[in-house]
Amino acid sequence: MLPLHGRASFVTGSTSGIGLAIARALAAAGSDVVLNGFGDRGEIEEIRSGIERDLGVRARYHGADMTRPEEIAEAVRSVETELGSLDVLVNNAGIQHTAKVEDFPAERWNTILAINLSSAFFTAQNALPGMRKRGWGRIVNVASAHGLVASPMKAAYVAAKHGLVGLTKVIALETAGTGITANTLCPGWVLTPLVDKQIVALSEEQGLSIEEAKLKLLSAKQPSLRFVTTEEVGAAAVFLCSEAAASITGISLPIDGGWTAQ
Ligand code: NAD
Repeated sequence: MLPLHGRASFVTGSTSGIGLAIARALAAAGSDVVLNGFGDRGEIEEIRSGIERDLGVRARYHGADMTRPEEIAEAVRSVETELGSLDVLVNNAGIQHTAKVEDFPAERWNTILAINLSSAFFTAQNALPGMRKRGWGRIVNVASAHGLVASPMKAAYVAAKHGLVGLTKVIALETAGTGITANTLCPGWVLTPLVDKQIVALSEEQGLSIEEAKLKLLSAKQPSLRFVTTEEVGAAAVFLCSEAAASITGISLPIDGGWTAQ
């Protein structure tokens, strides 16, 4: 029997990158999944049907915009209605913008806080009553090494990710002993569209090739000098959802090639 057989998972921001890898890993562990995020509807449908075909679980898609609390509430209700429960909540949707504090556009600040932090509060607020009723639940919040340490030019991102680590600890304390756990994953550099943009910007700013820009990005922060893979993050999420992790709650798990050990 697969470890998450019979469970239902909702992964925000799972049409791409880390969220998609987590959704696939949860499905490979037997969980039904609801995908969420933006993108081409045809491509999203291919991803959704591919999960059903290859992994033999039910897969659905909900297009809720994580900046909108009413759409988030509706998405949680829809997961519970369509799949019967929402047992695993993965708050992964996130965006980035880089600028100095003095130059940071207010609109970018507000949107990053809304997607990278507030959406996790609203999904949890809506999902927790059902988890409490069933006496089992897993909340996995995807923060970042930037949830633990800072870098310049990333005021909103670092503030939101530190906030997400704090929010997760509060949820862990409020749910302790109920069968629900809440934890944060803190990846270092992972090669996804979010980081691709930063690599292209670095290569243009400094006249570097893409390969040189990748190495420069890694050598500044990540002693392993290799990108963390999306599969590694997916495997960590599955572990936190397993029975073996029943006593692990309120932690922030770095997956960062040594970034935060320095
Ligand atoms: P990505 O750009 O590949 O994926 C982001 C996902 O979020 C996409 O599915 C996108 O459609 C979705 N999304 C964006 N805005 C949304 C909104 N308003 N409502 C719903 N969905 C929305 O990025 P990624 O690198 O896979 O990042 C995923 C998470 O991992 C983010 O929270 C990011 O901060 C975090 N993270 C990434 C890295 C990295 O190096 N890539 C490192 C640490 C943490």
